[in-house]
Amino acid sequence: MDFGLSEKELALKEEIRRFAQAELPADWRRTTLIDWECPDFEFEMSISRKLAQKGWLVMSWPEEYGGRGASVMEQTIYEMELAYWGIPGAWMGISGTQWVGPCLMLFGTEQQRRQHLPLIASGDKDGVWCTCYSEPNAGSDFANLQTRAVRDGDDYVINGQKVWTSAAHRSRWCWLAARTDPNAAKKHRGISIFIVDMTSPGVTVNPILNYYGRHHFNEVFFDNVRVPASDLVGEENKGWYHLMQALVFERRSMAPTTYGGFKRLLEELVEYATHTEHQGQPLSQNPAVRARLADLAVELEVLKMFAFQLAWCISQGQIPAYESSRNKIASDEAMKRMALIGAELLGIYSQVDPDSEWAKLRGAIQGAYLGFPGHAIAAGTAEIEKSIMAQFKLGLPKSY
Ligand SMILES: Cc1cc2nc3c(=O)[nH]c(=O)nc-3n(C[C@H](O)[C@H](O)[C@H](O)COP(=O)(O)OP(=O)(O)OC[C@H]3O[C@@H](n4cnc5c(N)ncnc54)[C@H](O)[C@@H]3O)c2cc1C
Repeated sequence: MDFGLSEKELALKEEIRRFAQAELPADWRRTTLIDWECPDFEFEMSISRKLAQKGWLVMSWPEEYGGRGASVMEQTIYEMELAYWGIPGAWMGISGTQWVGPCLMLFGTEQQRRQHLPLIASGDKDGVWCTCYSEPNAGSDFANLQTRAVRDGDDYVINGQKVWTSAAHRSRWCWLAARTDPNAAKKHRGISIFIVDMTSPGVTVNPILNYYGRHHFNEVFFDNVRVPASDLVGEENKGWYHLMQALVFERRSMAPTTYGGFKRLLEELVEYATHTEHQGQPLSQNPAVRARLADLAVELEVLKMFAFQLAWCISQGQIPAYESSRNKIASDEAMKRMALIGAELLGIYSQVDPDSEWAKLRGAIQGAYLGFPGHAIAAGTAEIEKSIMAQFKLGLPKSY
């Protein structure tokens, strides 16, 4: 079996390497798991626009919407390389590029596509979206969401509260799940999706600092926010089914980015083990260290294959629910092991802040260690992903 890349795919890898070398400062410190958002928002958006100009940001979209009709495989390779080189610019707009855009292509109206897809594809601030699903009493039990959307003439009126909304403070648009039928026989049947302009009167965004003191999340309040009925996405009360598709899209990109970022980190750990001595001999001579690094290499190789297989499933027109949940869990597990093994290797240095003169590997292990628990929760916890796999792969009955 030939898992090699085509000439076109190899050329893409090389072009991205050159882009990274040309665009990033020589002392560029890659974003880590706890710094998804580049500290310099303007720089992140300037790179985002350059990625768009290269035709990379949404490369697998059709040309008429700002993409270049690339294969999902090329998209996957692009994501791996972006993460490998630590190129910023793609994270901020991830809701738009990874799931809002693809969902609008599937079940949006032509007007919604014409208005939003080119904007997302431009990499501009006005094309940045956030995703408002979670609420204080609706996380894993997502169907329990209470935010209401009530039809009033040509508008819907939205009231409710969302929480843990990544990047809401940077977003111009929101992909919102709200309840349109509170009396539906089953609670997941009365949900709809809306496009909400974040500058609408009645939208309030409050920061939530995460457990390492960074502003990544927000809570978002909707107080009588009027949304034109033309901004309902897909069918009213069928939002649950649309959202399942959106979550498959969201989970798809996790394996490529984890693989790319951690491949680089593994290379750095190997380098560190080669040049660091412990009790008079290089760490790289220690059998336990060698075994752990080899374990990581195997795990990353598996993750790469999972990423390629998922890309292939999507290219065949499948909706790979099982595979995307499997990849999500595999990514989370790889992150966790990378962080734990990295911390073992660096010892006390793994706790040092990236800005310290004592930091090793520019604080990447500290970032991975602090960041992996959050990643394992975002977009679905392991318990929820395993439940999906049990249903779709093993044929076990749906759990409630
Ligand atoms: C980094 C990060 C970014 C995020 N970004 C966003 C965002 O942009 N937009 C957004 O809407 N949300 C976002 N979230 C929220 C995220 O989607 C939720 O945190 C997640 O779905 C879990 O919900 P919860 O926090 O309410 O936990 P809960 O659902 O209360 O779960 C608590 C624990 O109980 C377990 N559990 C719950 N139900 C079951 C069950 N049926 N079977 C077995 N175990 C169960 C869970 O696995 C978990 O361990 C983000 C979260 C993180 C950490």
